[in-house]
Amino acid sequence: MKKIEGSVGQGGDNLEDDVRLVQQLLNQRDLAPLGKLQEDGRNGPSTVEAIRQFQVRFLGMQSPDGRVDPDGRTFRQLGNGGTERGTGENTQTRKADRQTRTERVDPRVKETALTTGIIDELLPRLTDVRARVIAGFLSDADQFWKVNYHWEYLLQMVEHSLTLALKDDAKKELQGLRSSLIGCKPDPSSGYVTSPIGKPEDRSSVEDARQRHQTLSSAKRAFGKLVDSAELKQKSKKGEHAFDLAAAPVAPPGTSKHGSGYALDIEGENAAIKSLCKGLGASLVFDEKSHVHVEFKNGVNRS
Ligand SMILES: [Zn+2]
Repeated sequence: MKKIEGSVGQGGDNLEDDVRLVQQLLNQRDLAPLGKLQEDGRNGPSTVEAIRQFQVRFLGMQSPDGRVDPDGRTFRQLGNGGTERGTGENTQTRKADRQTRTERVDPRVKETALTTGIIDELLPRLTDVRARVIAGFLSDADQFWKVNYHWEYLLQMVEHSLTLALKDDAKKELQGLRSSLIGCKPDPSSGYVTSPIGKPEDRSSVEDARQRHQTLSSAKRAFGKLVDSAELKQKSKKGEHAFDLAAAPVAPPGTSKHGSGYALDIEGENAAIKSLCKGLGASLVFDEKSHVHVEFKNGVNRS
């Protein structure tokens, strides 16, 4: 195994040969949705981001520092030769695991070691129901991003509803929701719904982001009531889950159980998913309509 002389990444020494070696090692790992790095020996934001993602997914770090030290844990794990997750005894099983994973886990789902363990235990037991994991670990920054995702999504649904044939008072209320949402917009103000988790990066202050969460929460409650009173689902051609997601609550950033690594969001046949997860020892299960939120604080019951 080759060694690095100095540290690489955030605040590191970043000697050219060291950076190139770390870039090569990172490129042997699957860090999707991140793309492959240029192996140019120069440290920059994409190299630091790849190191962070590696630390979250392969080392289970809650606050990744984005740096590789010559004698540190990150370098040891990086040098661990591209061992993919999945513990199948033979190639056949590993292929099956990977196949199931591709079908059943959204590629945007982030994992700590804890999350990976739970997903690997859970997937073989969910084969008889329609179920797809759509969220796992979320860092603090991801939780702020999630607020923006919901903010943009709700705004789109409010604007869509304004195109439906509605009574004047319903329209007025929708217009009010629209302007209160626009009054607390993130910077940039769009792109969250269509980008991988964490992108684009919001430049507004933490204070503004917390304020946005509050405004969003009350707008969601008001919109949820309008969905029923103005019969939005019946009047729209969008599926009913589109409205459920718009009205679904979002945890205040920094407090989501998704920060623990043992919470998952699973979409599909909600009732079946709920009862299966309860039977497998989930510490908390609740229906968020567009998906089921489950927590396995004490792991998955194997018996
Ligand atoms: Zn959840």
